[in-house]
Amino acid sequence: MEKLIELDKKHFIHPTSSIKDQQANGAKLIIEKGEGIYLTDKKGDVYIDAMSSLWNVNIGHGNKELAEVAKEQMEKLAFSSTFSTFSHEPAILLAKKIADLAPSKLNAVFFTSGGSESNDSAFKLVRHYWKIQGKPERNKIVSLKRGYHGVAAASTSATGIPEFWDMAGHMESGFVHAETPYWEGTKTSIDSIREVIEAEGPETIAAFIAEPIQGAGGVLIPPNDYFKEVRKLCDEYGIVFIADEVITGFGRTGKMFGMENWDVQPDMMSFAKGVTSGYIPLGGVLVSDKIHDVMKDKSMGTLFHGFTYSGHPVAAAVALKNIEIIEKQGLVENACKMGEELLKGFKQIKNELNIVGNVRAVGLLGAFELVADPDTNKRFASDLKVAPRVIAALHERGVICRAVTYESTDIICFAPPLIINQEQINTVIEKLHDSVAAVQKELNR
Ligand code: PMP
Repeated sequence: MEKLIELDKKHFIHPTSSIKDQQANGAKLIIEKGEGIYLTDKKGDVYIDAMSSLWNVNIGHGNKELAEVAKEQMEKLAFSSTFSTFSHEPAILLAKKIADLAPSKLNAVFFTSGGSESNDSAFKLVRHYWKIQGKPERNKIVSLKRGYHGVAAASTSATGIPEFWDMAGHMESGFVHAETPYWEGTKTSIDSIREVIEAEGPETIAAFIAEPIQGAGGVLIPPNDYFKEVRKLCDEYGIVFIADEVITGFGRTGKMFGMENWDVQPDMMSFAKGVTSGYIPLGGVLVSDKIHDVMKDKSMGTLFHGFTYSGHPVAAAVALKNIEIIEKQGLVENACKMGEELLKGFKQIKNELNIVGNVRAVGLLGAFELVADPDTNKRFASDLKVAPRVIAALHERGVICRAVTYESTDIICFAPPLIINQEQINTVIEKLHDSVAAVQKELNR
């Protein structure tokens, strides 16, 4: 154990981490195995993975069917290209399956290995779409403050959390951010998109991108009429509407895709995470028939965009089996039902304790806010580190969650595996109650 921690410090640069903290304190958890909603570390301590790790392990850990299908596919065809006119059955069948599940107008898929690649691809494909129609000036991307779209060059810039592009001191040009509907409400935030479009020049805007529910920004759920208004605005200006379904896709919100909650069809949709439940990296972008038709008609020569692992056969075979499991086990319906129970539990805690602000969930994507005054939603001073203290208290009680603390918010995010049952929800709620009560007591001292 000590040896591993030393090697980790010396050789492993962790993603999204504090390098100073790693060097001072070492890796806190070295996870050894996963089963269902549980993770076990090398010391043998068991945790409820209430975040599905990175919002992605939708079918839960340790599913043997996925391991078997990966082994079979590796033995048959571990890899072969999908560049140019090469193809293979797993990628073809997966593209067809995803097109069948997605909104009716989205029927063609470009595959990637994850969410960032999917969004970077979406931006390049949409710019290509405009260019081949003689409008190369339509190249800017509008996104939302507190949105998260990944960390590749373009997706970092679309991300509306400044820490992410600030870290390398640079945001690509051609990216602009509008207000967050969760805080601003529909009218103000739609007006803000309009202002951005008008300020930049409508003829320069290629696309608008948003998550159905802003995940990494703190599970920020928009008002019910927001995306209908977004759709109208995009149509008014002829702008392509991209839904980033990387977290919300494949059942997370109690619907197969998040945008179904508001019955709105985007023109493009990026996905990753839940498509394989994280068992193997895979992502992609779906495009509408309209966009695909323009590409079929006008895209001359080679489409100079493709990853070695676009449509990887093993990843595609695993995704197909994962989707089959989601459907066979009724996990979308379970997410809906258990999400209601999770929210009921949040509300109970809010009634009993006095540092709880807004609580919310759509399916199994939920958030629990901590505030100094629930009547006015006054936030705690950030140096009190209230959310990180609750996370630490949950950790001690065997629950892994995530805190979001940008702009002095104290938000605890929840996204447990979609297989979670009532008893396990009760355990999560009980431990959350005890953790928040313990921190409240410390704050009162
Ligand atoms: N979009 C959204 C909405 C995400 O939540 C994430 C990852 N958390 C990404 C894109 C980026 O995905 P990846 O980390 O697989 O590149």
